[in-house]
Amino acid sequence: NAKSFLVTGGAGYVGSHAVDALLRAGHHVTVIDDLSQGHRGAVPAVAELLVGDAGDRALLARVLAARPFHAVMHFAARSLVGESMQKPHLYLRDNVQTAHNLIEETVAAGVRRFVLSSTANIFASPPDGAALGEEAPIAPGSPYGEGKHMVERLLHWADRCHGLRSAALRYFNAAGAHPDGHIGEDHHPETHLIPIVLEVALGKRSHLDIYGDDYPTPDGTCIRDYVHVCDIADAHLRVLDVLDDRSVRYNVGSGSGYSVRQVVEAAEKVIGRPIPVRMAPRRPGDPAVLVADGNRLRAETGWSPALPGLEDIIATAWAWRSRHPDGFGG
Ligand code: UDP
Repeated sequence: NAKSFLVTGGAGYVGSHAVDALLRAGHHVTVIDDLSQGHRGAVPAVAELLVGDAGDRALLARVLAARPFHAVMHFAARSLVGESMQKPHLYLRDNVQTAHNLIEETVAAGVRRFVLSSTANIFASPPDGAALGEEAPIAPGSPYGEGKHMVERLLHWADRCHGLRSAALRYFNAAGAHPDGHIGEDHHPETHLIPIVLEVALGKRSHLDIYGDDYPTPDGTCIRDYVHVCDIADAHLRVLDVLDDRSVRYNVGSGSGYSVRQVVEAAEKVIGRPIPVRMAPRRPGDPAVLVADGNRLRAETGWSPALPGLEDIIATAWAWRSRHPDGFGG
């Protein structure tokens, strides 16, 4: 039973993998993306791509009136923790305002389901480094995380007052690329660990800067929970059934944490080349340890990662990147 989905940011990294999953499930997809970070080449021709701002009310009203949408999936956002520490108001204004307009137009159009791309950055690093469940205290590590939490609160009230059912999916670290090799991760500028490591392997950078080795972790570098981007996409489809009854929030992660040094070692094994590193100061806004307790998502939706292993995740990223050294521009 094919349904229609509106996907903002569907030309971006996680969004394009979700669009792929929706299309494979036989659904009709409309993408709104301003292509500021997304890539035209990441959206297959069978999806409808509207180049525009996901907070543009006139555009949204027109699109949402065109057909009955089963759900809105909202990926379009600024997403760099470090940049948000330098430009807090840019992040708080843009991400919250865009979501606010989108939620209001979604409600006005009578769409009943909304899936939000949220983040582990709404949590602080727990003192004992334990895995974070949904009830962990909210303590955003940056304006980026704060803005996402504010959007979760907008959705809370959209449910209470208008019955809009929503799922806030707090991704831990999205990583990897589609195993069939047609889409992958390509940011400008690139700030994420795994793609930077791949650029070093490709000779596009001389080395990786490790942002701090004096964190309270076994090797002193930050620990993150890397989840394959297709497993994150899969979570978006699985939560839809739960939304028939109620709104939910889920932490989306594998439950395994790897330090920056462990990621470098895993990449060296996968690629078979040394990755030169240099020590650099801490990056403001980075918590020491973020690892998900993803048990609620597993228990309530049957989700489990198809690609849980770090080396397998990196291998998919490398397969795409080594064949597309210039990303979507190549
Ligand atoms: N990191 C690093 N050097 C880089 C980029 C990232 O040491 O050039 C570290 C960063 O401090 C964090 C981890 O790698 O601890 C993952 O960072 P990324 O930007 O990939 O994702 P985030 O956790 O910020 O969402």
